[in-house]
Amino acid sequence: MAELRCDNCSDIVEGEPVQRGARIYCTEACAFEAGRSKDCGGRTDSVTAPPVVELPPQAE
Ligand SMILES: [Zn+2]
Repeated sequence: MAELRCDNCSDIVEGEPVQRGARIYCTEACAFEAGRSKDCGGRTDSVTAPPVVELPPQAE
């Protein structure tokens, strides 16, 4: 049996998961927290700008 883990607090989801799109949360509160923190952008711990990597054209 697969264990679902909350996308916000990483706890194992027991019972009925709360689904938001492709993400799963243990409670409505966690779903709300995750959505809010993403919207307000006040937290910087999860802000990671993907590095711009330019791949050179393959020359053979
Ligand atoms: Zn949670």
